[in-house]
Amino acid sequence: MSSPYRELKERAWAANQEIPKRGLAVYTFGNASALDAARGVMAIKPSGVDYARLTIDDLVVIDLSGKIVEGKLRPSSDTPTHLVLYRAWKDIGGVVHTHSSYATGWAQAKLPIPIYGTTHADHLDEDVPCTAVMSNEAVERDYEIETGNQILECFKSREPLHTPMVLVAGHGAFTWGETAEKAVYNAAVLEELARMAFVTRTLDPAAPRLPDRLIRKHFERKHGKNAYYGQK
Ligand SMILES: [Zn+2]
Repeated sequence: MSSPYRELKERAWAANQEIPKRGLAVYTFGNASALDAARGVMAIKPSGVDYARLTIDDLVVIDLSGKIVEGKLRPSSDTPTHLVLYRAWKDIGGVVHTHSSYATGWAQAKLPIPIYGTTHADHLDEDVPCTAVMSNEAVERDYEIETGNQILECFKSREPLHTPMVLVAGHGAFTWGETAEKAVYNAAVLEELARMAFVTRTLDPAAPRLPDRLIRKHFERKHGKNAYYGQK
């Protein structure tokens, strides 16, 4: 039977396939979702299903209030976190969560990732932010919703599409983008930035951040109205 959400589920499926392909997860770790803003629904990976066995029909379609619209499997346990972000940020169309090794290493150290070099500045003009550690009360309340709230708190004075990634202290990475494809791209970028920063700090624990002038140069040639990187 054909589904009215087929195209949305295909996009979510493709983003999920990128997670193991880019080395961002082992076994069933991680999840990606894609949003259909016009219909107010998202498609997300089902809970505990191996990526290699994941079919497009396995994806679960959920409305923004959390009601399952289509799908036979239980959605990812991180679904409430995805929903918090979609409800708060109207211009994002995809969310990805991973425990990729280096990003999670920084998250577990509860450290933002310093902007050491131009690879980082090509994507972000600041350190990759790290949330505060969740309070005991919040853990007891509703863990996955509170994870979303932790991210929103960390982004109170940030633009989500300007800085499309965050480390959740003691936990792992969340990334997002205009599309699910962009969100998973950002997850791969984050892991690479985390790895490079780890090597930098290991070689020189006192390594300075990139000078502001270089940060601006690299960030602005790829972003904003005067961007000139790549093909038109
Ligand atoms: Zn997690």
